[in-house]
This record gives sequence, structure tokens and C-alpha cells, in this order.
Amino acid sequence: MRFMFAAILFCGCSREQTKPQPQMREYNWPIMGTTANLILADDGVDAEKAVGIAKEALEEVNSKLSVFVPTSDASKLNANLGCDYTTYHSFEMIIRSFYFNKITDGAFNPMVAPLVELWGFHRGGEKYDFPPPAEAVSNTLKRCGIEMLHMEHDIYGDDEGNTWCENTIFISAGGRIDFGAIAKGYAVDVAYEELRIAGCTNFLMNLGGNMRASGTREWKIAVRNPLKGVDDEPLEHITLTNGMAVATSGGYEQFHERDGVRYCHIIDPRTGYPAQGVEQVTVIANDAMTADALSTACFVLGAEASKKALAECGASALFVVKNPDGSLRLERIGDFW
Ligand code: FAD
Ligand code: MG
Repeated sequence: MRFMFAAILFCGCSREQTKPQPQMREYNWPIMGTTANLILADDGVDAEKAVGIAKEALEEVNSKLSVFVPTSDASKLNANLGCDYTTYHSFEMIIRSFYFNKITDGAFNPMVAPLVELWGFHRGGEKYDFPPPAEAVSNTLKRCGIEMLHMEHDIYGDDEGNTWCENTIFISAGGRIDFGAIAKGYAVDVAYEELRIAGCTNFLMNLGGNMRASGTREWKIAVRNPLKGVDDEPLEHITLTNGMAVATSGGYEQFHERDGVRYCHIIDPRTGYPAQGVEQVTVIANDAMTADALSTACFVLGAEASKKALAECGASALFVVKNPDGSLRLERIGDFW
């Protein structure tokens, strides 16, 4: 199993140190090829129940959206079986995917799965020596347009005056979908809502670096230095509170290297090639799905071209870019700073 903490929790701390502090309880479990981490800071909350709620929420999203689960909606779509009984989670993901694709001018695109595979990530790519030939890239790119994804929305009625609607999702032949850049954040939001409904107030839900904080406490998060290991001196600390979320995308955990060139797992859907130019980007947003989707898109776009999408979502970002001399440059966008 891979552990992918792009941003690490340092500690949960409150400014109000005069009051007795409730005990922190921390739980970890594996899911979605990474680790889920829940820190509860509420007195009087049944921790076992809370962990059960969070686990169930993440499992449910995983069962519908994972391309690693053969019975999921995502796998059915990829097998061209369509989803004629759209489940809530896949409906939500598709709608949101169209939205993020639009506001990022195509930089966020869950239909890049054939290119992700061509570049040797998750599976596939074995047909060619690495890097794949330009012709294979341009041919594969033709199967990755967002227009390969279809959603039909039909409204029906009967003689008794009842009306209902049915959504049908399908993908054109040759296309494939992968919610890898958005569904971990979405799953964090689903768990967050369920925990709040169950009466949990102060907690931090973390799924592989996609985090959302609940309550009035301040949660201090360490942002990793992309040139160093996860346990080394962090680049920066940010503080989350009141429903805020953070996600980090970087090219240093999943990549291939040839002749001194690093090819990472985030693909620029406009060119078909792995994104270049940004070392790491951390997005702070009002929900974890937005932070997740935008961190991937901002990694593709770079700081300047990301401003529009970040502003549209009321989100902020910390870009880490490498200077020609190898040193790091930080660029901050948004009101958070
Ligand atoms: P992010 O930047 O958030 O996302 C990058 C990923 O998104 C890429 O790996 C690629 O798949 C896709 N992508 C690339 N470019 C773009 C783009 N321009 N626009 C949109 N998407 C793009 N991994 C396992 O090994 N085993 C599992 O069982 C497993 N189950 C999973 C279940 C679910 C529901 C999800 C969402 C992921 C699962 N993963 C699994 C995948 C694993 O966790 C991924 O490596 C991860 O989602 C990538 O996230 P990230 O935070 O590293 O990068
Ligand atoms: Mg992402």
C-alpha cells in the first residue's frame, strides 16, 4: 500500500488554552490505496460510533466511484455498461466534473484515464517503451475529451399525475473515466457531513492529505517541502477551522524518470503530456472536493492561469515552483493569505 500524505497533520491546538482541553483520539485505516485518518477532539462523543460512521461513508463512496472496484459505477461506465439507475454519488461526481472542467478551461478532466494509463500509471502503458511515442499520445488524446462523457436527463409522467426523472450516464466507445483527482476529497465531505449529523463537532477528517476540519478549534497543518521527505522540516504551516478544507497535489510521489526528465501522474489534458512547471500546489477551499479538484487543475495550469478558477470557488492556493538554480519559490493566491 502507498501512503500519500502530501500535507501532514502536526497537531490540533486551540488558542483558548485556559479551558481544560478535551482529549484527542486518533484513528487510522487503509482505504482507496491510501490511509484515512480521523482525529476526534470532542468530549462525550462515542468514538467507536464516530469511526464507524466515517468508515461507512468512505466505503460507500469507494464502492460507487473507484475504478479499482469492478462493480462500481465508474467501472461500469468504463466497461460501456452505462449507469441507467444513477446513484447519488456518481451523479454528483459527473455534475461536479463538468463544472470543474469548465472553470479550469479543461485542466481538470476525469476523462484523461487513457492517457494516465498510456503514461504507465495505475495500469496499462506496457505496449510502448517509455516515454510513449508522440503519435500514441496524440491518438490517445482524441479519446480523452470531456465530450466523451454523456449525461441524459429524462422526465417521465404517468396518468395519475406523478412525475419523476431518470439520469442516464454513458461514455463514448474508447473513453474511460477516473475520479482519482476529485473523489477522495468528495469522500471526505461525505464523511464530514455524516459525522456532523451524528453530533461530532470538533474533528479533522483526512484521506491521503485531503483534509477537512470541523468546529471552532484551530488545526495546524504542515505543508510538505516537495524536495524533502514527509518527516523533514515542513515548508509552511497553515491553520484550518470551521469547515475549511485543504488538498495538495505534487509530482514527487507518483512519477517515472527517464534521462533526467520527471514524468508525473498528473496529465495536462490539453497536450496529453504529464504536467510540468509546478513542484507542488496546496489549495485551501470551503469543501474538500473543491480543494482536491482544484489542486490537480492548478498543478496543470500554474499560478497565473489558476487565478480565475480559484476566485470562482473562493479558494486560495500556495504554489511551489522551482527556480533555475534549484531553489524553491512560493506563490500565494487568494484571500487566505
Ligand atoms: P490528485 O492530484 O488528486 O489526482 C491525480 C490523479 O487524477 C491521477 O493519478 C490520475 O488518475 C488523475 N488525473 C491525472 N491528471 C488529471 C487531470 N488533469 N484531471 C483530472 N484527473 C487527472 N489506488 C490504489 O492503488 N488502489 C486502490 O484501491 C485505489 N482506490 C481508489 C478509490 C478511489 C475512490 C479513488 C478516488 C482513488 C483510488 N486509488 C487507489 C487511487 C489513488 O489513491 C490515487 O493515486 C489518487 O486518487 C491520486 O490522488 P493524489 O492525491 O495523489 O493526486
Ligand atoms: Mg486532486
